[in-house]
Amino acid sequence: MFSKIITTVTVALDGHPLSLYSGAVFMADSPSPYRVSPNISYMMVALAHAKQVNNHQVYIFDESLYRDEQLRYYIETHMQSALNQEEYQLYLQPKMNLQTGHIDGAEALVRWQPTGHGMIYPDQFIPLFEENGFCVQLDLYMVERVCKTLRAWIDAGISPVVISVNQTKSLFVKEDYVESLLAITRKYNISPRYIILEILEGLAFENIEALNSTIKHLNDAGFRVSMDDFGSGYSSLNTLGKLKIDELKLDRMFLSDVIKERNGAQSEVLASILALAKKLGMRTVAEGVETKESEDMIRSMHCDYGQGYYYSKPVPAEEFRKHFCISQA
Ligand code: C2E
Ligand code: CA
Ligand code: CA
Repeated sequence: MFSKIITTVTVALDGHPLSLYSGAVFMADSPSPYRVSPNISYMMVALAHAKQVNNHQVYIFDESLYRDEQLRYYIETHMQSALNQEEYQLYLQPKMNLQTGHIDGAEALVRWQPTGHGMIYPDQFIPLFEENGFCVQLDLYMVERVCKTLRAWIDAGISPVVISVNQTKSLFVKEDYVESLLAITRKYNISPRYIILEILEGLAFENIEALNSTIKHLNDAGFRVSMDDFGSGYSSLNTLGKLKIDELKLDRMFLSDVIKERNGAQSEVLASILALAKKLGMRTVAEGVETKESEDMIRSMHCDYGQGYYYSKPVPAEEFRKHFCISQA
């Protein structure tokens, strides 16, 4: 049908090219249980997905697509009320200081625990929040949860640890970003020295000068900045040389590749990057430390910190305090 229409019409159009697209959605006879919401039918969902594919495939709407869409709908309609109802929980994963053998830092990771619903993990909602802009609010809220927690610890005579917080890229282009952070640290009377801001490398590609200027502004205010997931995606040594960051976090794929092939070339690359980061004055963290073997390896390469399941999964802040914090009392 397509080629017949195109041939006939192209002649009529004096040789101008014509492209045609079409799609078909199969519908069950019985009333569908696949109703995502009063406004979104499974047909619209299937159609939207089929349009993304756009290469003459038959797209079958199935149970798993239905579940994904239902979750997406839940997330988008509840994200704001979840903030007001304090459903976003602060989990902490320890960072092991490889020189001292002590836990003296942690990474803050969000968990969404809706009432009467199973736990929702960041991989399920962070990409969506980055798309719709809500991540800016959530990330500042997480900074606030961190400061509130540190304040409670200090007041209870517990030695605080430095906590790293993930920050979405849209925050870095907000004019009042540094001021917003300072308003939070002041509210809880927490020194910015206790906060490390983790940013993704992708940010650096867009405008290194602008990024460096924000980093300088953050450093002047007392915050430190870490580059997360280095080695995943399109990491570049060029960027590394130009960025004025305090810490480099190596993606966990790095370590898992090296462990698979102990004395291979990847191990040389890892050792060289760790040495290079040191030379540039950055602290180094290896993510995804799952075994003693991984720890021994990164320690022998003079990496400063290890983070991973070998030490602990991310745990609720209260549990972190019980297991890893030292009371001065
Ligand atoms: P990430 O920043 O790279 O965080 C580390 C992730 O690796 C965490 O997953 C953690 O649970 C997991 N992990 C830690 N140790 C190990 C290990 O030894 N082996 C393996 N296989 N995995 C390990 P999680 O908590 O599910 O977070 C996923 C991602 O979601 C984070 O990756 C981060 O990019 C994002 N994220 C989490 N919380 C926030 C947040 O508050 N704000 C923003 N913007 N992003 C967040
Ligand atoms: Ca991170
Ligand atoms: Ca990471």
